[in-house]
Amino acid sequence: MNCNTDCTCIEIRCKRCKRLLMKGVVKNVEIKCPKCGYIQMFEETKLIKNSR
Ligand SMILES: [Zn+2]
Repeated sequence: MNCNTDCTCIEIRCKRCKRLLMKGVVKNVEIKCPKCGYIQMFEETKLIKNSR
């Protein structure tokens, strides 16, 4: 990643197959993985907590 340390930009990966789904600032999204079809929810607060 080319982000600064205080940036909330993060990589979103499929929980099942680890495919990179998107990259950027996330609030609350539901996304379906195009590879394995797994539908998953991502929340900003949880992601920031996990990435640090
Ligand atoms: Zn997947």
